[in-house]
Amino acid sequence: MLLFDKEEQLIKGIVFNIEHYHINDGTGIRTNVFLKGCNLWCPWCCNPESQKFNPQMVIHRKMCIGCGTCQSVCPTGAVLQDDFGNRFIDMSKCTLCGLCMQKCLSSAIEQYGEEKSVADVMVEVEKDSAYYTESDGGMTLSGGEPCLQPEFARALAEACNKRYIHVSMETALAVPWATLWRVAEKVDQILADVKFTDPEQFKTICSEPVDLIKDNLKKLREKGKHVVMRCPIIPTLNDNDGHIEKLIEWAKELDIKDVDLLPFHQLGKYKYTSLGYVYTMDEFKEIDKTVVEKMRDRMAEHGLNVIVGG
Ligand code: SF4
Ligand code: SF4
Repeated sequence: MLLFDKEEQLIKGIVFNIEHYHINDGTGIRTNVFLKGCNLWCPWCCNPESQKFNPQMVIHRKMCIGCGTCQSVCPTGAVLQDDFGNRFIDMSKCTLCGLCMQKCLSSAIEQYGEEKSVADVMVEVEKDSAYYTESDGGMTLSGGEPCLQPEFARALAEACNKRYIHVSMETALAVPWATLWRVAEKVDQILADVKFTDPEQFKTICSEPVDLIKDNLKKLREKGKHVVMRCPIIPTLNDNDGHIEKLIEWAKELDIKDVDLLPFHQLGKYKYTSLGYVYTMDEFKEIDKTVVEKMRDRMAEHGLNVIVGG
């Protein structure tokens, strides 16, 4: 039987997924814990369900057969129909009772996000303890932006520290240093999302100053944290030589050795429709493999350990 202290049972946050057996998000075999809520809302995000802080109920149109059961069982009138007859859930009326989900014979309804305690999450994380020992793996905090639930994220990291479980954290670093450090202090490895090096581009697309990202990277390195730069490669936006040269410059300046290049894909597109969001990346095609390989080789020439699709 697993034992949890009072704090671990009391501290809670909103989690939208826990996935086992990841091998690309930190060392060894990982359990990824996805926290809900993000401040950047990148248009290429493959987890748009991570962006809002609160839990959401969605109807996947591709799976819905239009039977109307969800609408008739909903006690609050939260299931509505648009002008084309598609059903959707009005979250301002939904109480997350789950009745529609239970009754839908097509399994077309999904809940994104629910409140969980540190203890609830650790039950899942500890299931794979044997794999962590064998592979140098552990838990990876992901999102959304885990630092936007700083007390919960810190408590999860501390729970792992106590149990000698390695902790990695994916973060876009677009938060004040004090907030970032509140969590990062308890984290062994930072997977730092570096989207742009150009200040104008970052400000225009992500609404934050790029200096904040660079400063946070610098401070993490000064604190001796192991940082992996994770760089999404988005066609026409940052798939250019200038950006790659700038990444090399940052890596040298900050003594960062590990880089993951993450080529753009459209795998999360269907979720935008389910959430009622507009997908704006239709025109952006997947990047040619040889272009990414060229980037990898250029970085490797400078002594960087580069993984494509990490
Ligand atoms: S119950 Fe399921 S299949 Fe029927 S209308 Fe609702 S979402 Fe669609
Ligand atoms: S979760 Fe409950 S309140 Fe929300 S849409 Fe479904 S039945 Fe209605």
